[in-house]
Amino acid sequence: NRRIVLNARPVGGAKETDFRLETQAVPQAGQGQLLVHNHFLSVDPYMRGMMSDRKSYVEPIALGAPMAGLTVGQVVESRHDGFSSGDWVVTNGHWQDYSLVDDAQTWKLAAGLERKSLALGVLGMPGLTAWAGLRLIGKPQAGETLVVAAATGPVGSMVGQLARKMGLRAVGVAGGPEKCRIAVERLGFDACLDHRAPDFEAQLSAAVPDGIDIYFENVGGRVLRAVVPLLNQRARIPLCGTIVTYDDPDRPNDTLPDHTDIIMSRLQQQRVLVQGFLVGDYFHQWGEFLQEVGPWVEAGEISFIEDIVAGLENAPSALIDVINGRNFGKKIVSLRD
Ligand code: NDP
Repeated sequence: NRRIVLNARPVGGAKETDFRLETQAVPQAGQGQLLVHNHFLSVDPYMRGMMSDRKSYVEPIALGAPMAGLTVGQVVESRHDGFSSGDWVVTNGHWQDYSLVDDAQTWKLAAGLERKSLALGVLGMPGLTAWAGLRLIGKPQAGETLVVAAATGPVGSMVGQLARKMGLRAVGVAGGPEKCRIAVERLGFDACLDHRAPDFEAQLSAAVPDGIDIYFENVGGRVLRAVVPLLNQRARIPLCGTIVTYDDPDRPNDTLPDHTDIIMSRLQQQRVLVQGFLVGDYFHQWGEFLQEVGPWVEAGEISFIEDIVAGLENAPSALIDVINGRNFGKKIVSLRD
């Protein structure tokens, strides 16, 4: 049973030596437990937070303990009445070939789901994050304008496509011209702007002639600062994440000066609603989400981009890549040969 453990707490950006590959005996399921053979590991930005020893909404991983995260796999041994050997499940497991889990964090995959990895992306946690944040906090109205960054990632791409379905103008922000081209051509964004372009702020302003009604916040930094002056009265900001702070909360990875007071003042003047949220707050609405979005994905009306890398040993670099924008779509590690 190969596994990736936390070798050292990162200082600033995470690096490959902060992880270690180990091999252990495959465990046996105890009463009430399942032994799951993992086929796919999800790689998500929040995992960078778990590597640090700071107070956060996710428990820090102990040094020497395996990296934790959602996995898709097959039950190979069940000592739980609700599951049988052969069942496909998504579970809150670890970066390892086999996970021992109980029923509290394990869900069966829908019987007809052929492409199992979708349960980690468009039909999984990031999809629900986008759906809940947009629908329940953003409260979109046809004719409004939405902006979302990390537009080709699993959260941003779902936000943009749902917004288009609801009759909004959807403007994406992404890192580089290729991601922006795909955002428009494949994901249907009305426009997409490169946040590294020297005149990004002017481009964004030109792309939202009627101002911004919903800013789905994934990144913070330069994008946030460009958006704030363009917010309309009573705009909504579903505050999903601020990836610029993940490597080091005290020193965001863009080096712009701190404009918090100016931002807060503008939010107050425009009566903007800012609501931070965690996807876990909406797990009870999984069914509702899948009922609405599942048929669209099946019919090809909602597209998804997967960035799958093979081999457990490549999981550390996959996470480092996600934090630095070197992924193109939902990052997944495949453990199948
Ligand atoms: P992605 O797969 O989109 O990966 C993160 C992306 O962030 C990178 O690919 C990069 O895209 C972008 N990025 C990195 N640095 C910067 C920067 N300085 N400025 C602008 N963009 C940057 O991630 P997800 O779709 O999985 O997650 C998106 C956000 O949603 C994250 O903040 C994540 O933490 C959050 N999240 C929150 C949840 C919650 O419960 N609140 C649940 C799930 C996700 P590019 O190259 O296009 O810039």
